[in-house]
Amino acid sequence: MFLDYDGTLTPIVKKPERAFMSEQTRNAVRELAMTFSTSIVTGRSCDKAKGFIQLDELHYVGSHGQDIQLNDGTDPFQPNSEYLPVIAEATERLKEAVREIKGASVENNKFCVSVHYREVRREKDKDLLKNIVMRTVTEEFPDLKVTNGKKVREVRPGAKFDKGDAVKYLLQQLTNKHSWDSSRILPIYIGDDKTDEDAFKVLSEEGGFGIRVCKWRKRTAAEYSLKNPSEVKEFLEKLVRWRREQDQV
Ligand SMILES: [Mg+2]
Repeated sequence: MFLDYDGTLTPIVKKPERAFMSEQTRNAVRELAMTFSTSIVTGRSCDKAKGFIQLDELHYVGSHGQDIQLNDGTDPFQPNSEYLPVIAEATERLKEAVREIKGASVENNKFCVSVHYREVRREKDKDLLKNIVMRTVTEEFPDLKVTNGKKVREVRPGAKFDKGDAVKYLLQQLTNKHSWDSSRILPIYIGDDKTDEDAFKVLSEEGGFGIRVCKWRKRTAAEYSLKNPSEVKEFLEKLVRWRREQDQV
């Protein structure tokens, strides 16, 4: 099981630092991880994700795939670690560049810089923020690129390694580690955002499927959908119950 965090296990909140997970969802994810191999795949840094989720049973993929940490304590796999200093520099530079825009906030997610504009009210300011981020990156950090998420501009390493690549890598690692028969694995990925689409595509190539969390019909590579994080929680609980019933038969 692969799970995104924001918007999938928690509702999207105004202040990203307050995206806490409910105790019921934490229990559901804990039970899930005891039943199936479970990984969190998020845009946030692994440290932040671990701080929110507080479950050691999980594998964590942070920074949109840039930081892969298995739960067995082995060294993390960081495909683009050479970008760390330039990301740190870009964080400081962007903080300064958007300081004047009311409501804007800049978050260092280690392998990517998130410039949030959920709390920016004026359309004019949103456009300004977009232009400043784009210009700063193009002119000063040509090795980085800008992508768009929900009310956030994300500045990431130019080299491609996204949530899809990370899921593929992790699937391979886990299959080898546990000597799984790959024809008997059904990988499932649940996510709510554009960046999750890369993972949905990989999953259908790998014989699994994606579930997009969305209220309304969306163009997506996922085969299924759930409406909101509370439906996700219910789905996870059902999956665990189903598995336990199978074991009793
Ligand atoms: Mg999300």
